[in-house]
Amino acid sequence: DMGGMQDYDLVVTAVVDHSAREHGGREVVTHWADGSETRTNYAEIRRDALKMVQALKALGIGKGDRTATLAMNHSRHLVSWYGATGAGGVLHTINPRLFEDQLEYIANHAEDRVMLYDAAFQPIIDKMRDKWTSIEHYICYDPPSGFDGVGFEDWIGEHDGDTEWAAMDERDPCMLCYTSGTTGNPKGVLYEHRSTVLHALSGLQPAAFDFNAQSVMLPVVPMFHAASWGLPWSGAMAGVKFVFSAVNDPAVLYDLMEREGVTDSAGVPTVWLATFQYCDAQDKPLPKLKSATIGGSAAPRFMIERLMKNGTRVAHAWGMTETSPIGTVGAPTHDWDQLSFEQKVDMVAKQGRPIFGVELRTVDLDDMSTELPRDGKTSGALQIRGPWVIRRYFKAEEDCVDADGWFDTGDVGVIHPDGTLQLTDRTKDVIKSGGEWISSVELENAAVGHPDVDEAAAIGMAHPKWDERPVLFVVRRDGSDISASDVTAYLDGKVAKWWMPDAVEFVDDIPHTATGKISKKDLRARFSDYVLE
Ligand code: ADP
Repeated sequence: DMGGMQDYDLVVTAVVDHSAREHGGREVVTHWADGSETRTNYAEIRRDALKMVQALKALGIGKGDRTATLAMNHSRHLVSWYGATGAGGVLHTINPRLFEDQLEYIANHAEDRVMLYDAAFQPIIDKMRDKWTSIEHYICYDPPSGFDGVGFEDWIGEHDGDTEWAAMDERDPCMLCYTSGTTGNPKGVLYEHRSTVLHALSGLQPAAFDFNAQSVMLPVVPMFHAASWGLPWSGAMAGVKFVFSAVNDPAVLYDLMEREGVTDSAGVPTVWLATFQYCDAQDKPLPKLKSATIGGSAAPRFMIERLMKNGTRVAHAWGMTETSPIGTVGAPTHDWDQLSFEQKVDMVAKQGRPIFGVELRTVDLDDMSTELPRDGKTSGALQIRGPWVIRRYFKAEEDCVDADGWFDTGDVGVIHPDGTLQLTDRTKDVIKSGGEWISSVELENAAVGHPDVDEAAAIGMAHPKWDERPVLFVVRRDGSDISASDVTAYLDGKVAKWWMPDAVEFVDDIPHTATGKISKKDLRARFSDYVLE
């Protein structure tokens, strides 16, 4: 023995133990669907998670078994994250906004045995119960009075928490998350203890979430969305105070931010739009946040500007379910202090740089293999590899990475010489005009800068000469009567001349996916008969 270091499995229960031991009194606050509020802390949450381990065991649920949740953000959901994984099982967070056939498919495909759910989703449970073939136990987090099923607190309340976590290996699976399946059936991504701990550790750093024991985090990102960006683990590592809301009402979120001294928040761009609209309508200043992480889809420039002017650090992040999800995060560069405000906004509008553990490259879109230069100009298919990047989808027959471990993200982007990623589109959505690529996302983001545009989506329509040309679909702000030429006049100078949409069509609404992103697939289907004049 030459000496050396210890074997210490990187398992998530070590995170839960650490939080209770070193930050035991740090609070976790919940605003419930019925308006009531509760406060608990990491020590109590660990004890409840151990009670849940006993409760699962009593049901015969053990190693590798899947426990599903259909729930918003709250402390009992957090207990379940820790309890289901601590029992040696796999926590399967389900997005309640999925369509019925998707809900049916994923719970059956996952072979979930237990379902923990919010009373608000009782209608979904009632509708799906007969279709879900593997679920044996249904437990409600917040049973209404007179409820005749099993309530979560009663269920774990029968136990004392005097037990130990199941024995586990760092390469065991601990969580399962399905992509929303923009094409075909949803696909399951199976996270492991090791990948989850490494991802959470990296997420703590100043260039990412920048957490410490003073942080007060209100995650608007739902706990069912892409492992909630690792927050339930990163937060426990650093002992952040969590403020959860089981309702996504901007008035409630605003009030919680004020009352609980929230310093950090994270969510998709629409969350911030809702906050702006609320503050404007109520004539209130934006909440005084230290940091706002925005990801899931591109953060528009005006949003970044407004938050930055409010003194909030905007961390624009890119990732996907298959990458746990953090890939890149925007953080101040070495020359940040020398940049003008405009230059800073330009920088933040891009998707940031890889954190340690992530390798990125772009390859030629036509042959999907020639590596492209990091010149800030050449756009290509974005590929990623690292310890928290997928190797094979759950129950799939083969790996989804190439021989060197590169996973193709389906995104298209440019890498700048300093490593900054600039996402331009999804492979399926780029518009091919005359052999050149037009970014649908850039068109959309330029358009939504117009005060009378609520939402915009660009898709490529078949064109006899150019192959495809962009058509921009726009939802007007209530009461506005802007015309197509107003929109194109506004875009003039903001996008390349040959990118200018061939048509601007006004629509009442734009279809969205279950995670609230624009669904180009549905938009294309809706306008399948559309002909460019
Ligand atoms: P879905 O495909 O159902 O949207 P994910 O939630 O995993 O599933 O979404 C990942 C995708 O979201 C990425 O591949 C990318 O296209 C998009 N995305 C995530 N973050 C950003 C961002 N900051 N800017 C632009 N697009 C983003």
